[in-house]
Amino acid sequence: MKIKANYHSHSTFCDGKSTMEDMVLSAVNNGFTHWGFSAHAPVSYPNTFALKSEDFDSYKAEYLRLKDKYGKQIKLYIGLEMDYIPQLAENLRENAEKNYKLDYFIGSVHQVKENNPQIKVTNADTQTWFIDGSKTEPYDEGLKTLFDGDIKRAAGCYFTQEIDMIKLYRPDVLGHCDKVVMHNKNRYFRIDEQWYKDLVYGLFDAVIEASIIVEVNTRGIYRKRYEDFYPSTPFLKYLIEKNVPLVVSTDCHKAEETDALYKDAVLMLKSLGCKELMYFEDSWKAEKIDCFI
Ligand SMILES: [Zn+2]
Ligand SMILES: [Zn+2]
Repeated sequence: MKIKANYHSHSTFCDGKSTMEDMVLSAVNNGFTHWGFSAHAPVSYPNTFALKSEDFDSYKAEYLRLKDKYGKQIKLYIGLEMDYIPQLAENLRENAEKNYKLDYFIGSVHQVKENNPQIKVTNADTQTWFIDGSKTEPYDEGLKTLFDGDIKRAAGCYFTQEIDMIKLYRPDVLGHCDKVVMHNKNRYFRIDEQWYKDLVYGLFDAVIEASIIVEVNTRGIYRKRYEDFYPSTPFLKYLIEKNVPLVVSTDCHKAEETDALYKDAVLMLKSLGCKELMYFEDSWKAEKIDCFI
C-alpha cells in the first residue's frame, strides 16, 4: 500500500492563492493518494484570512464537484482549520460536526488572548497577539503592548489557549503546535530553556490525555520563516517516544506548495524512530511509515 496524504491545505476560498481545483491537480501530479481541504474557518470578527460564513456552501459544493471529477485519481476530504480564541470562538466541535458536517477539523491558535477572563475581547485584530503572518512587527508589537514584553507570560497564554481548545473541543488534528516560536528568531528565548520546554510538555500532556493527532507542519521551512518543522525536532522526538499519532502537513497556500518538504518530513520522522503515520480515509487510521515513502 502506498500512501501520500495531506489534510492541511488552503485555497482562494480563504487566504490561499490557488483555486481548489488547481490544488487538486497539483496534488494528483505530485502523487498524493489522499487530500483534504482545510480553509480557515469563518470567524465572528472582521478579517482578511478566513472563509466567509456565506461562502461555506460554495466551498462545500466545489469540494463535491471536485470529488466527483477527480475521485478516481485521489481521495478527497473536506475539513476546516478552526481558530480558537477564548470568548470569540464558537463551539468548534459542534460546529464541525453538526453545522458544517466536516470529515475532520484542525484546531490552531494564531491569535493569543491575555489569560484573564476580566479582559473582554471584542476586536481580535487589536486585542490579541498575532503570532503568524509574514511580518515580525505585529509579533513584537503585540508582545510589547499586550504582555508588557514578557515572553514567558505571552508564550504561557499561547500554550494555555491550545490546551483549553483541546480540552473543550478535541480537534482531530492539532495545527502547527509550537508556531509561537516562528517570529522569535532567537531573540526572546531559546527552545531549550526549561520554562519553555515545560510549556510544550504541558501541551503534550493535554494532547496525550485527549489522544488527538499532532501535525508535523513543513511550512515554516519552505517559506523560510523558521529553520525547523512545527513542532521542532527535539519535541518531535518526545512525541515519537510517547507514541503520539502524527500526520505530515504542508499547510500549502498555492499549487506549487502542495508537497513542499513532504518527503523530507516523512524521512526525518523515520530517522527519529517513528514507525507509523496517520491518514484519513473515512476515519483516522495508522499505517507503517514505509508506506508513506
Ligand atoms: Zn494555521
Ligand atoms: Zn493553515
